[in-house]
Amino acid sequence: MSIAARARREALSAPPSEPLTLRGFLGVFRYSRRAIELVWSTNRALTLSFALLTLVAGVLPASVLGIGSLIVDGVVAAMRNAGAGTSHVIELVIIEGVLVASIAAAQRGLTLSRSLLRVQLGQRVNEMILEKALTLSLGQFEDSEFYDKLTRARREASSRPLSLVTRTFGLAQNAISLASFAALLVQFSPWAVLVLLLAGLPAFVAEAKFSGDTFRLFRWRSPETRMQTYLETVLAREDYAKEVKLYGLGPRLLDRYRGIFHRLYRADRALTVRRDLWGFALGLVATLSLYAAYAWIAVSTIRRVITLGEMTMYVGAFRQGQTAVSAMLSAVGGMYEDNLYLSTLYEYLETPAPSPSGGMVRGPQPQDGIRFEDVGFVYPGARTAALEHVSLHLPPGTSLALVGENGSGKTTLIKLLTRLYAPTSGRILLDGRDLADWDEQALRGRIGVIFQDFARYQMPVGENIGAGDERYFEDEARWREAARMGRADSFIEALPAGYHTQLGTWFRDGHELSGGQWQKVALSRAFMRTRADVLVLDEPTAAMDAQAEAEVFERFRQLAHERITILISHRFSTVRVADQIVVLDHGRILERGSHEELMRLDGTYARLFTLQARGYR
Ligand code: ADP
Repeated sequence: MSIAARARREALSAPPSEPLTLRGFLGVFRYSRRAIELVWSTNRALTLSFALLTLVAGVLPASVLGIGSLIVDGVVAAMRNAGAGTSHVIELVIIEGVLVASIAAAQRGLTLSRSLLRVQLGQRVNEMILEKALTLSLGQFEDSEFYDKLTRARREASSRPLSLVTRTFGLAQNAISLASFAALLVQFSPWAVLVLLLAGLPAFVAEAKFSGDTFRLFRWRSPETRMQTYLETVLAREDYAKEVKLYGLGPRLLDRYRGIFHRLYRADRALTVRRDLWGFALGLVATLSLYAAYAWIAVSTIRRVITLGEMTMYVGAFRQGQTAVSAMLSAVGGMYEDNLYLSTLYEYLETPAPSPSGGMVRGPQPQDGIRFEDVGFVYPGARTAALEHVSLHLPPGTSLALVGENGSGKTTLIKLLTRLYAPTSGRILLDGRDLADWDEQALRGRIGVIFQDFARYQMPVGENIGAGDERYFEDEARWREAARMGRADSFIEALPAGYHTQLGTWFRDGHELSGGQWQKVALSRAFMRTRADVLVLDEPTAAMDAQAEAEVFERFRQLAHERITILISHRFSTVRVADQIVVLDHGRILERGSHEELMRLDGTYARLFTLQARGYR
């Protein structure tokens, strides 16, 4: 099923809703520790100041209240005693001013360290995500579910660890404040403390439930979001612009894009409205309890159980305590949400990397070259085999041409040979040793490949060639030599900045090449791999004229004294010079032999060859 069809089908069903259980709720907090460790290891000094300031900002508010109460009582006493004790009141006012200023300073410091940490942490997490991406196999990249994980991790998770830590600390800060308010209130009545705590509970449960729902919604619709991102790419990227314009696809695709938004928005709106209605209703409970407590405190003051100063303090403690409780609750709800999001990040980071390869750097029989032994391959999730019972032997110094219809398995064979995928059955040997036992670096160093969909790096043309051998990425002398061999030198020298001309249209002064010129650049990239003794050309010459293709291939062959050259081409004029020609059909070898042998056989190859030759006559 196509991605779009699957996204549509999934959109029709409702997002899964799960009941909120205590275990599920607590289990999800397992990422808090890791988030704190992550932040701590990112910048210790900042984390430490963050923690200290949190503590300071937590303790100070209650002391302000305490001083406030002393001020009121001091004023009342001074009024009764004809102004005696005024200077004491002034002192208290100054102290309160200093405390309030300190709270402001602590809050500023918190904001500052948080912004600095956010930048560093965002970069750190993105680096972790990209580093992980380097270790993944091609199969994982092509797997849509895995790709969803990667996108989700990239989109959300870089801001989540800090958010989690901020909330954890915020929770601590408010807990400290709450404890100090409770310490004040308990002198009035322990019941008041109990009312304070209980009034917030319903809001808390609702908060946790809705956070979970939001996350599930986010996860459930990620195929749709991916489709949306994809449509954005198609609509707004230069490499699609040509077709989208000529075929007039724009409005239709934009409609689809809108359609997805409206579907997503409906689900979002429903959840947001529900969340806010509940939030309001449960918030009322808290307000009611506050005013009940207020009345109680006021009556106690009138009955002279407490002083006027104490009344202001208790009411303040109750009110601010309630604010602290609701801040704690939303912090916990937010932490729950952050944890859920972080679970996608760690799910991604913990995806098992493809099994580590062996450590062999050479094989026991260097003269044996490449051997396919009854190789079969089924793509993950595919029903039919892309290759079956393929056996081949290519000693050093030979050339092989692969021929066959589209989809007959030619590229797949190359992907197996380069170990981008591992065979499902049979094995492939290089120099008498299974590919799986080779050290990855050593193996990749031996093989140079240019695929039909080779990369067009938006970098200088020289680096586009240098990419062929990472060690000489910036070696200008080698770029020139390789470009000469790939017949790219003459047009490159005519470019505005020669080998330093920026290619592509993404960046300033970028210069776009023609399809054939890009192919010459790609071929030159293959010539950079002077160490590689297996060279694979998977139709990289399709956009070149027949003459140029034949010349390039001839050059590869001459170069290949001890090398193995594998060529995929639909041009029989090029194919015919290969030592060995293999005709693939539905993943199986149909015919094999030299051009003469296959012509004598008078089978598929002979028929196709004659057909094409007639066209040229
Ligand atoms: P060729 O290079 O001969 O045109 P391929 O080797 O690319 O053919 O494809 C062989 C078969 O494998 C085709 O049926 C194709 O649909 C399938 N195939 C190719 N790539 C993938 C992939 N990444 N995932 C699943 N199936 C694939």
